[in-house]
Amino acid sequence: MRHFAVVGSGPAGFYTAEALAKAYGEQAQIDILDRYPVPYGLIRFGVAPDHQSLKAVSKRYDKVAETGGVGFIGNVTVGRDVSVEELLDHYDAVILAIGAPHDRKLGIPGEDLPGVIGSAEFVGWYNGHPDFADLDPPLGGTHAAVIGNGNVALDVARILSKTRDEFEGSDIVGHALEALDRSAIRTITILGRRGPHQIAMTPKELGELGHLAAALPIVDLADFPPVEADEALEPGQRKSVTILREFANIRANKPKTMIFDFFAKPLAIEGEGRAERLIVERTELDERGAARGTGETYEVPASLVVSCIGYSTPAIEGVPYDDRGGKFLNESGRISDRLYCVGWARRGPTGTIGTNRPDGYEVAEAIAAEMPAGSDGGRSGRAGLKRLLEERGVRATDFADWRKIERAEEAAARAGSPREKMVRVEQWLETLGR
Ligand code: NAP
Repeated sequence: MRHFAVVGSGPAGFYTAEALAKAYGEQAQIDILDRYPVPYGLIRFGVAPDHQSLKAVSKRYDKVAETGGVGFIGNVTVGRDVSVEELLDHYDAVILAIGAPHDRKLGIPGEDLPGVIGSAEFVGWYNGHPDFADLDPPLGGTHAAVIGNGNVALDVARILSKTRDEFEGSDIVGHALEALDRSAIRTITILGRRGPHQIAMTPKELGELGHLAAALPIVDLADFPPVEADEALEPGQRKSVTILREFANIRANKPKTMIFDFFAKPLAIEGEGRAERLIVERTELDERGAARGTGETYEVPASLVVSCIGYSTPAIEGVPYDDRGGKFLNESGRISDRLYCVGWARRGPTGTIGTNRPDGYEVAEAIAAEMPAGSDGGRSGRAGLKRLLEERGVRATDFADWRKIERAEEAAARAGSPREKMVRVEQWLETLGR
């Protein structure tokens, strides 16, 4: 019998557990740990609440959690309640699938002013992440700025501009729905430090902006290279750029506008005790395609600034860390003897949910090659970990506990919504009678 601990119950963790379960059958016990009593990581806390079809992948993860030999151990923080070293004592291999929940910093003056928020915080707020339930982002001004030209910037700009009706069917948490309904924001500037050809936005997500009830996307065709230049782009990117160009042809009067400001590099955020404006430098592309400042600066008003410029994985004591990449130091997912990482903790914060599948399978294969099914490592696995957690007074949850929370959240749903998420750890534990 082999014992595996997968730390993190987002997509990377679940695909790895699925692959290990397939590779070992009844010859392994696989525990998926999470710091929260509830599973799914990015699916629950990251994927936009109005993208329910993407969230539906959790049904597949349910099947994994209910596979014989697989267990969910929630409410346990690795690095605090139990160390990686201790996990390695109890398990044959430990796979870190903790994602990249921390915001990368802009590194510009004014970044710490009230009103400047990282996307992990803002997305966590509208998705019911317990750490950000009290964020209370300032929505009383008329201007917001979103920094970055990736899909997260699109999520944030879209959520800021949707009407109450447009959230029907979503599981946006009640506190965010009410606050956004009262929001005074009318102009959202989306700043890209490079140009339309360099966006990291995908066609489907970009296309949604063209169909919003109250908001109009605005581009300036002067920012675009001649249309023939689009031919050189790979097909997906060409599609995105075509959609962007088409925004220029939309003729409509809507109360809110989303302005794409390209070749715009934030230099500073200014204001009297809170964010009021961004100081932005016009850029051009250098020979390598990077943004180079031109020296021309201008101001963009914004009392809310959300930076959507990428994420990093938190370091864990004793685990080698790649400071530049913001992830664990690893080679094809292997960190050191019996210690592995998968997903964003392995690759950095890029790729879709599906990218984690081959990633998790590759690492599971490497583990299976090292410790073939049928072999025994003589470790205590789940029983040993449970003993340790009990000794320390850590009250772990299991998958049946999650199902109870899930039922309570479904029962509390407002009309047309799949669930009303509980947003505090205490609420979850109360539901479990703890
Ligand atoms: P991303 O795709 O890497 O985009 C980050 C953006 O931030 C880029 O436009 C980048 O510009 C810009 N940026 C980085 N540093 C900057 C700085 N210092 N100043 C100004 N701009 C800066 O990351 P993401 O949007 O966080 O998304 C993460 C991953 O999740 C992506 O793979 C994304 O596709 C995926 N995702 C998918 C969905 C979906 O499918 N619906 C939704 C959300 C996220 P440069 O290109 O110039 O570096």
